[in-house]
This record gives sequence, C-alpha cells and structure tokens, in this order.
Amino acid sequence: MELFEELESVKKQALTEIDSAGDAEVLQQLEIKYLGRKGLLRDLFTQLGSVPAEKKSAAGQSINQLKQLLEEKVTGKKETLGTPVKAATGEQFDTSLPGEKKTVGHFHPVYQTMTDLSNIFVRLGFDIARGPEIENEFNNFDALNIPADHPARDAWDTFYLHNISGSQRHLLRCHTSPVQIRVMKKTKPPLRIIAPGKVFRSDTPDPGHFPMFHQIEGLMVGEDVSFAHLKGVLNLFIKEFFGPETKMRFRPSFFSFTEPSAEVDISCVICNGKGTGCSVCRGEGWMEILGCGMVDPNVFKTVNYDPEKYTGFAFGLGVERMAMIKYRINDIRLFTENHLKFLNQF
Ligand SMILES: [Zn+2]
Repeated sequence: MELFEELESVKKQALTEIDSAGDAEVLQQLEIKYLGRKGLLRDLFTQLGSVPAEKKSAAGQSINQLKQLLEEKVTGKKETLGTPVKAATGEQFDTSLPGEKKTVGHFHPVYQTMTDLSNIFVRLGFDIARGPEIENEFNNFDALNIPADHPARDAWDTFYLHNISGSQRHLLRCHTSPVQIRVMKKTKPPLRIIAPGKVFRSDTPDPGHFPMFHQIEGLMVGEDVSFAHLKGVLNLFIKEFFGPETKMRFRPSFFSFTEPSAEVDISCVICNGKGTGCSVCRGEGWMEILGCGMVDPNVFKTVNYDPEKYTGFAFGLGVERMAMIKYRINDIRLFTENHLKFLNQF
C-alpha cells in the first residue's frame, strides 16, 4: 500500500530532522516543509482521493495522527530553541524606517450615503422598513393609485418578470414606495418609517440615468399629520445633510399617490444659490432633490386606514443623486464602474 509506505518514510524523516534542528530558523523551515500550506502532509492528504474506499478512513486517521505528532514535536522543540530572530540571518533592521502601510477598505459611497441619510431620519424617530426588490404589480402600482393606463406601467419603463406565481404579474420595483403599502397593510397608525433600497428602471445609462439605483422612501401617518410636519422634517434633514446654510423651497407637482404633491429644491450647493454663471443649476440658483406630498386618501382606502381619521405625508429621494450633489459627482455611472481612483476618494 503506497500511501502507508510514504507516510512511514515522511514520519521517520520528519522526526529525525526536527530532533536534530539546531536553531529556531531551521525549525521554522521544517515546520513549513512538513506542516505548511504546501507541505508534505498536505501532499499526503491530497493523495487520499486515490485510496480505495475501504482504506480511506484508516489512511486519513494515520495522516491526522502524524500531523498531531509533528505539531507536538515542533511545539516542544520551539520551547528550547525560541522564535527565530531576523537579525540572526545577518539582515539589518532599520528602526527609523516608516512602517508598512496597510490598505484598509471602506464602504461604497452609495452605501455610505444611504447610511448617512438613514441615520438622520432615525434620529427623528423614523423606523427602517424593507421590502423585496421583486414586487407584484398591485403593490408597485395599483395600491399607489397608479392606474393601469399610466405610462410608468409601460414595459418601456419597467422590468417585468415571467409569471412566477399565479395570475399576478411581478416586476423589479421601480420605486421604494411599495414598502409603504406592505408596512401599512400590517401596521396600524401612528407610524413613521423610511424604506431604503434598490430600485430598477429600464433607462439607458447616461450621466444622469442608470437602470439600477437606490432610493429612500419616507412615510409618516397619524392623526393630524400635516404639510407643516412634512416641511419641518425635510427642512431638518436638508440642513443636516447639506449644511445649515442650505435653503429649501416647495414647487407644486403631481404624483399619483400624494395629494397635494410637491417637488423640493435646495439652494445650489455650487454657487450657494446665487445662480449667476453657474453651469450646475443653469443659472437658477436651485437644484431639485426630491418629491413629496400628503398621502392620497385612495392609498389609505387600499390599506384599510380611515382617510377621515388619518393623514400622512410621504417623500422619496434618490440616494445617488444626493451623493452626486454633496460630493460634486457629475456621472452616475461612476458608482458602478468600480475604479479605485474614484472609490478611494471617499
Ligand atoms: Zn448653481
């Protein structure tokens, strides 16, 4: 039996060599030779594959026993010889040299921004809610008061999946708003949540668009929740994230699931709202950052909330857009290209 013979010869050789090792340096070499990652014992283990099945367990056991024996011998010998000192090999160690710098990784700027944004709302008392990236058509559209003939439902805008369960169509969610529906269906008001996560749209990549990006959805529902609360929360959030000098304004807008709806602009972070000659805000002094509004009573009816008793606000913002404004990034595609020169700046 070949393997057993080899085992015996390795054992004999190893024991003799370890016994006669004269200094720590030699012992270290022997440890690598027999017990190292590419050592002789490792070789024996790889040969196990060719041993007939009935002898495999006995052979494995013998190799393990040898491994244990050699480990004990090496440890015992180390006690007498000590650990190897580099200087002993004649190498000089210059203590004035700077240390070796280890590269430490960090979070991706999108994840970092999402965490920074979420933390602001968590401090304002919002809970974090999550939902699946594969959503059904009802939660993604119907429940949010987006009728079947709405253009967002077009296959051009949305990624539909092959029918995976029964009659309802599934899709990659095109916003984080369906998390609102999921939470309201199983929670009674009052509630305050944010829903951070990935969303998908069949957009062609360009500096401002990418088929996958991140959003944070916010929702607050209770008795007497008003537009003033929305303004208060957003104002605190904007000053915290973009700096205390930042101004904000509402612009009337339309979203199916809020009524009234508004878009929120902040004073341009590049020209500080002056506008003159600024290419980023195109001379306007303002930049659009998010959409919001008071939850449409139809949405409340879908989740069995009494629209006469409860009111609420919702807002949604793009995480990449926030990072782009804050860190002056001019192309959304940079986030997914994984160039270290870009990522290392954060
Ligand atoms: Zn500007």
